[in-house]
Amino acid sequence: MWLIATRSGVVMSRFLPPSLALFYPLCRQPLFLSTMLIEHILYSTAVAIPVGMISLRLTGRDPSWIIILCAWAPDIDQVLYPLSYRLLGVSMIVNGHTLRHGDLHTLGALLVFSVLFALVLRMYPFSIRYGDGMLFSGIGYAVHLLGDALVYNPAYPFFWPLSESRLGLGVVFYVRDFFGIADSRVLVVGLLLCALAVLVRTAVDGRGWTRHYMFWRKPENT
Ligand SMILES: [Zn+2]
Repeated sequence: MWLIATRSGVVMSRFLPPSLALFYPLCRQPLFLSTMLIEHILYSTAVAIPVGMISLRLTGRDPSWIIILCAWAPDIDQVLYPLSYRLLGVSMIVNGHTLRHGDLHTLGALLVFSVLFALVLRMYPFSIRYGDGMLFSGIGYAVHLLGDALVYNPAYPFFWPLSESRLGLGVVFYVRDFFGIADSRVLVVGLLLCALAVLVRTAVDGRGWTRHYMFWRKPENT
């Protein structure tokens, strides 16, 4: 067995076969163990449900599932480096240094991502209007940045390129005490917010609102 879970929950990779050593940074600390992935999904869901409710009333459309889909996006920098360097031999240079975790946690990256990802969402099978794609992917990205800002201090230069200052609120001391994959307090608050969002929307819209999250079954909704 080459994956060993330590008490802290960090997975060490030892004695990797050569084929897997190619992906060493990923094996050493998989994305879901090294970031707040579960919490980001919960908090983005708690935001997406009411935003979708408002969007449906204003525009008749509810593509708020995009917010949840994009909750992972800023942490993709952890995957981009090993994929580009180990597989293609290409180093990605950002602001004068090789790409590292946190480099995509900026306002500039948010804008570039939402502009590009809206093009993807414009295509089949999503067929999302370009403006909707930009707006909802931007909200999903921003919710991720806000979550990191609440937990870490200092966190990342969120307002780059306007400012290079690393900012953060650090309202909780983040500890992966839930099976090494999440902070139990952050997790519980996220679950409560999700439950509240579900209850409120069900009370207002009835049970049928969940069909907006089955985008693969209802493309005409977009
Ligand atoms: Zn992050």
